[in-house]
Amino acid sequence: MGLLEGKGDVKTLVGTLNFKQKVDRSLQLIKEAYEKYGDSLVVANSLGKDSVAVWHLAKQVSPKIRGFIVTTRFKPKETIDFMNQEVARYPELKIFKNDTSIPDELYKTDPDRCCDILKVEPVKRAVYEMKVNCWVTGLRCTEGRTRTDYQEVEERDEGLLKLNPILIWQEREVWQYLALYEIKVNPLYKEGYRSLGCAPCTKITSEDNERAGRWIGTSKCGGECGIHTRPLRKNMDGDGI
Ligand code: SF4
Repeated sequence: MGLLEGKGDVKTLVGTLNFKQKVDRSLQLIKEAYEKYGDSLVVANSLGKDSVAVWHLAKQVSPKIRGFIVTTRFKPKETIDFMNQEVARYPELKIFKNDTSIPDELYKTDPDRCCDILKVEPVKRAVYEMKVNCWVTGLRCTEGRTRTDYQEVEERDEGLLKLNPILIWQEREVWQYLALYEIKVNPLYKEGYRSLGCAPCTKITSEDNERAGRWIGTSKCGGECGIHTRPLRKNMDGDGI
């Protein structure tokens, strides 16, 4: 039985596999999925450190693997510049953005709605337009309180496999991988950010929780934008969300 079919105990794997074993496992997961899904396997690239590590892993499996980036009007300039550099280097990375009009400061009054419009909708569009049957993410189970219960292989939407190949990596192991392969990262990490998002909703903190700086002061604090929790194959003909 391959890794795609098996269900490892995530919490045990985090603590028992060493760095090399984790890298090999991640490569094997992507390899098996690519053999099964071919061109309908697509990497979601958020331009954060975890995503660029996954993107590098996927490129080792096949340079032909495609990806998508979801950006918003509120992304910091550094992230936009980094995105443009990545897309220039990898034209197979496609950008999705929702430019629809929204109320001023919706990120303060209703951040869930803001993320639904600006982040979840473009992901749905990417899945639809790129004919994705397997999307690959940089999710890790040690990132924060909302990420502890995921599996390496999931099917939250029927017929849409979600692969989380570095789910069991620790933050340190991501940096270890990026350093060893000399992979360029978003310059905002130099400023002290540990989790990157839109400018109004992302702060530098010194808390243990990696995602503690996200949506501070709202009900969403340390939480999720919704792409990992919302259905991604529904309502394409409805309100777009
Ligand atoms: S992170 Fe903030 S600004 Fe960005 S889409 Fe979500 S609520 Fe809106």
